[in-house]
Amino acid sequence: MFFETTIDKRSKKAMIDFLAGHYRYNTMNGWNHSTSYAHCIKVNKLGLTSEQSNAAYDMLQTDFWNEIDEPIADFTSEMSGSYTIGTNGRSNGYLVLYKSEYELTGFKSYCRTCGQRNFKLVHDAAKSADHAFIEAYVFRNGGCWVDAIYLAEPAIAAIELSDEEKLSMVQSAKLACKDATIGNKCGACGTEGEHGRVNYTRPQKRLSVSGKNVDQNEDFSEWSLPELRNRVELVRRFDQACDEIRDNFIGLISTCKVVEEVVMIPKTVKRIECCHAS
Ligand SMILES: [Zn+2]
Ligand SMILES: [Zn+2]
Ligand SMILES: [Zn+2]
Repeated sequence: MFFETTIDKRSKKAMIDFLAGHYRYNTMNGWNHSTSYAHCIKVNKLGLTSEQSNAAYDMLQTDFWNEIDEPIADFTSEMSGSYTIGTNGRSNGYLVLYKSEYELTGFKSYCRTCGQRNFKLVHDAAKSADHAFIEAYVFRNGGCWVDAIYLAEPAIAAIELSDEEKLSMVQSAKLACKDATIGNKCGACGTEGEHGRVNYTRPQKRLSVSGKNVDQNEDFSEWSLPELRNRVELVRRFDQACDEIRDNFIGLISTCKVVEEVVMIPKTVKRIECCHAS
């Protein structure tokens, strides 16, 4: 426990002192003056030995963050997305508690080849050629005709199915065509079939993070004991996550070292070539 502290949750004063005295930092830029609970995670504030510090400064030259930030995902899902943790400040030297919420992305399918996401579903393949023909007909003009006009189209009238069957195919296609495509061709890379678009099995959500302050200038003396306890629990859980991130970082610098390598990147260069009469 480096950041986490123990608080007597029977004492109103102890809880208020903890919340009001907790380290804070800006949620956005300094000039909008919104702050929240935070911890400084600059190398010289992590309580490292000088040997660890040297290793830490080497590590800062690399893309190490993804190796150690998993506690943030755990914290966020435990909070059902209503709080998360982000970095802020020059060189991201602070971990800050943020308000957040999940929102639906609206994406319904994605391409298995290039990953491009699409707002439309891939419509289930029709079970017969006649059904497929009627569906394609309806999808092609966006389902904008009244039912009887589809049925009267010579190509559809010629199909040997009962009018009831055709009508139900027309009606379901009219509903489906608003947010689905026939076939699963990707609009970006053009792949279709086995490696083309496929529907998501669950609604896709993303976390929207708010820059609003958390408990800034809050008068905790007006809070009830259960309210204070809940908030103390949240902030202690935040402290705990910060500890886990710090532990991960120390684990990383003690088990991995930074190696330097020269990479050859193929690149296209443009140069001027002139035509000279020689
Ligand atoms: Zn269908
Ligand atoms: Zn694609
Ligand atoms: Zn030349």
